[in-house]
Amino acid sequence: MAAVRSTMRLQGRVAVVTGGASGIGKATVKTFVEHGARVIIADIQDALGESLAHELGGPGVARYIHCNVSQEGHVAAAVDLSVNAFGGLDIMYNNAGVSGVHGAIDEILVENLDQQYGVLLRGVFLGMKHAARVMKPALKGSIITTSSVAGHIGGMGSHTYTTLKHALTGLTRSVATELRDYQIRVNNISPGAVDTPIWSKPPFTPSSNLLNLPFFQSSKEGVARMVSRPESIANAALFLASDESSYVSGHCLVVDGSHMLHPNWAM
Ligand code: NAD
Repeated sequence: MAAVRSTMRLQGRVAVVTGGASGIGKATVKTFVEHGARVIIADIQDALGESLAHELGGPGVARYIHCNVSQEGHVAAAVDLSVNAFGGLDIMYNNAGVSGVHGAIDEILVENLDQQYGVLLRGVFLGMKHAARVMKPALKGSIITTSSVAGHIGGMGSHTYTTLKHALTGLTRSVATELRDYQIRVNNISPGAVDTPIWSKPPFTPSSNLLNLPFFQSSKEGVARMVSRPESIANAALFLASDESSYVSGHCLVVDGSHMLHPNWAM
């Protein structure tokens, strides 16, 4: 008889999702819960995070914790909550992020790099550190990071974002080689453009529709094809979190519909 594939691919698993109150993180929290996981939503947008936890069924299924990922105590507390509330930690999705500061290299303030570093790199580093603290003794786990196509190529508009997202892919590979001895897999998702609220925060305009941004003006028709929904990334995270990717580690999964490979990628 052919094996029946479970539709509850994360049954009994416990996850922490940073940046889980919005966009890709929110879609991933929902997907993980649909597949049987219990989830800690770690974010700084308290009202959105609390509301999402409530919507998904409350404390038995999803809990929100205020967690600024650049603060080690906050990250440690989010991981500890997963252990204390749900009995362990199987999946750590280090997804929280902010958009890049745009500016010529001879004009940009180095403080912009420092500010973003706290979320995009230090925050992920801390997430890995504290997930490993719990996962190593358990000899199991899946750690996922979110880079970007800007973690693989230049010309994406922000030197700071590109720098930090490149560093993130290196961090993912480095930690994967250590944690393989503990049956902990460490992988990265590198999305192309995804339609989320990140595009309506600085440096973009508050009311911006992704397709109306100057960055994407060259070809609206082409851009419409390249922009994906947060659920596309959530499904990639589901794969990397589940046993279906049991021999995948140290991998960067680019989820961009192949647009990064095209020489005129925005066309
Ligand atoms: P989003 O703004 O919808 O979600 C980001 C979440 O991170 C928000 O809920 C925000 O509150 C949270 N966050 C920000 N700073 C934080 C901090 N210091 N501590 C904890 N949480 C914090 O954006 P998104 O598009 O869903 O972004 C998610 C990830 O995907 C980011 O790492 C982003 O760089 C990456 N990404 C996004 C795109 C895209 O086109 N949307 C493309 C490539 C990569």
